[in-house]
Amino acid sequence: MRRKEQFAQLFPNTPAFRWKQIEQAFFVPTIRSWDGVTSISKEMRAKLSHLPWMTVSAKQVMESAKKDTHKALLELRDGEVVESVLMENARGELTICVSSQVGCAMRCGFCATGKMGLKRSLESDEIIDQYRFWQQFLEDNKREEDLHSEFSAIAPRISNVVFMGMGEPLANYENVKDALNALLAWTNLGPTCVTVSTVGVLPRLEQMLADKDWPHVRVAISLHSAVAETRKRIVPSSYDDFLPKLADWARRYLKQLGNRRHHLTFEYVMLKDVNDSDEDARALVAFVNSIGNVRCNLIPYNLTGCEYVRSEDDRIERFLSILEGADVVVTCRRTMGDDIAAACGQLVVLAEKK
Ligand code: SF4
Repeated sequence: MRRKEQFAQLFPNTPAFRWKQIEQAFFVPTIRSWDGVTSISKEMRAKLSHLPWMTVSAKQVMESAKKDTHKALLELRDGEVVESVLMENARGELTICVSSQVGCAMRCGFCATGKMGLKRSLESDEIIDQYRFWQQFLEDNKREEDLHSEFSAIAPRISNVVFMGMGEPLANYENVKDALNALLAWTNLGPTCVTVSTVGVLPRLEQMLADKDWPHVRVAISLHSAVAETRKRIVPSSYDDFLPKLADWARRYLKQLGNRRHHLTFEYVMLKDVNDSDEDARALVAFVNSIGNVRCNLIPYNLTGCEYVRSEDDRIERFLSILEGADVVVTCRRTMGDDIAAACGQLVVLAEKK
């Protein structure tokens, strides 16, 4: 049961603002236990002390050789383990990648997590606490330069959150929605700083359009091919008429929510001799042009011991140039943290459970 529901059971007649005071304290990285929530009474704190202040704890934190990526193996209260990643870009901006499930049922062929199968979905507290974990990590690991700056009291802040870790976020719709609303309410993240990446679970994408409580953060669709058979090979959860149905949904999504700052992104992992030919590029151009304000993000594949191999650099360049030549807005994602298996498709728990 979520902490919020446990609180409501313990204090059924308490005004709603009390829980808000507690939620606010959750996101103060220097507060590490219920005792630190001084905005509520000592008696209330004592009664709350058996509820988990954190639902995740670090089993291991790894740092990449370039020191720009950290991966944490986070143990949940039932002993399951998920991975969460902190990345710093060249501008010093920090992005965290959070998991939404233990394992994943979607079985995408190139993905290490997909090989685990689905163990369970995360509670919203367990998603929120991945953000809190990194907040506290940053607080505890302030760097020399931060300590000597005029802002020495302030740890660097997380500027983006992406739901691209273990699991399919829309297969855990309600918990992800709850976590998104909490992050937007209690951190300085705006909706365009948060991205939910999905393989394209169409019933949930439809639900999202009609759901007034779904916060309109950015959406990235893991497309990987605009050719039906190829996509089905890479993403087995795909089906024959998935692409036209996705295009129809995407047009309605953009009509309802699109603006200059709110676009859709198609993620496209580059797999040698699978989805990287000129014909594949032209199919992607045609698909994008049938929709509108869509961006493409090419992802050089990171080896995970699967059957696929990363496209050659000159093939990626050629693919990129076909898209650019057709005026498709396209980027090529820099691979970060591949030496600690923290890059796209590599999130899988490597350490054994205790
Ligand atoms: S790529 Fe994403 S949706 Fe596909 S198996 Fe991996 S975690 Fe699941």
